[in-house]
Amino acid sequence: MSTVDSTLTSFIDIASDSDFSIHNLPYGIFSDTADGKRRAGVAIGEQVLDLAVIEAAGLLSLDGGPYFDKPTLNAFIDSGRNNWTQARKTIQMLLSSDNDALRDSQDLQKKALFQQADVTMHMPVQVPGFTDFYSSKEHATNVGTMFRDPSNALLPNWTEMPVGYNGRASTVVVSGTDIVRPSGQLKPNADDRPIFSACKRLDFELETAFVVGKGNSIGQPIAVDEAFDHIFGMVLLNDWSARDIQKWEYVPLGPFNAKTFASEVSPWIVTMDALAPFKTACPTQEPKPLAYLDEKATDNSFDINLSVELLPEDSDSATVVCETNFKYMYWSMAQQLTHHTITGCKVEVGDMMGSGTISGPTPDSYGSMLEIAWNATKPVTLTGGATRSFIEDGDTVIMKGYSEKDGIRVGFGEVRGKVLPAIQFNFDK
Ligand code: MN
Repeated sequence: MSTVDSTLTSFIDIASDSDFSIHNLPYGIFSDTADGKRRAGVAIGEQVLDLAVIEAAGLLSLDGGPYFDKPTLNAFIDSGRNNWTQARKTIQMLLSSDNDALRDSQDLQKKALFQQADVTMHMPVQVPGFTDFYSSKEHATNVGTMFRDPSNALLPNWTEMPVGYNGRASTVVVSGTDIVRPSGQLKPNADDRPIFSACKRLDFELETAFVVGKGNSIGQPIAVDEAFDHIFGMVLLNDWSARDIQKWEYVPLGPFNAKTFASEVSPWIVTMDALAPFKTACPTQEPKPLAYLDEKATDNSFDINLSVELLPEDSDSATVVCETNFKYMYWSMAQQLTHHTITGCKVEVGDMMGSGTISGPTPDSYGSMLEIAWNATKPVTLTGGATRSFIEDGDTVIMKGYSEKDGIRVGFGEVRGKVLPAIQFNFDK
């Protein structure tokens, strides 16, 4: 893994608390108003460096390229680790204070640098498959305590495998996409038949997702000590969830409509190379995992600060309702990917794998409203006095994440989504 040169500076003005330092260089897909054309860029400070322009100018030549004058990053990611390394090195050099190619060319800067505030971000990859895990022990324990048995909150399989389900790739959407409140079957009373209604218990789930950078062939599992090499980078994920739909539908086959209306991701993919300085250990796994899940590496997790803010429509100030950290996750991303493929299941470049709700040990670190307001028994008071047990129409949910160490900051920016009222259906015949 890369070592970090903390003396490295950029000729671009970057605030010390910016997520997008020269040590980060996350990839995204953007367009500007000139022609609306989607192409790849890298975030730097408050700006975006247009990689299609840099590539066309002959300053970024990769094997098998060009890669960046395209509407998704899939081809670049699929081109392999050598190109990931080469691209990062070259882009970092071009943005550094002591390289003149971009620094001293006003013409090139005019063509290649945009203010983030002036561009529109799009899905960074075409997502062939979306999977969501359930790998926070605190979250699984909280949910098990509320809905099953406090003395037996975790099901027996939970400490043996990274539990997950195959989700819906077509409804993975980029930050800024409005979320229409879903409707479906709810069963408010145990003794009655279900009703058709707008969801009354709309929730967020604070998660990250990793982006698969290298697939496998069907029938060929990915070994746990090699799995990390199959991961390109990470994004923030709000796994929007309809708790009342979920409660009625999930037995016996797990989540279905409760999870398929929107899975919202931050637009910038932070690479594993950028996150390498923030490696840390997963919590101790007891019992020791079966051999196929037993990882050699002990620094298989990451120290990433995460938060959730809630902003009602009629308010100017968001309220922080959760602060937690990715390092609490029990199962590592490598273990998740290995377990996913152990049967021979094929994963593909661009696949997104959600971590599962990331809850920490204390109530202020719980990653969903279900837990924060403890199944609506402890409503949260927001700045301004409004209370919430779940998410209401007009509310905006904002998730942020960053790592910081030795004066180096690598952040994700945010994933932000606003809830719109449900569609009014009329099924009269
Ligand atoms: Mn989830």
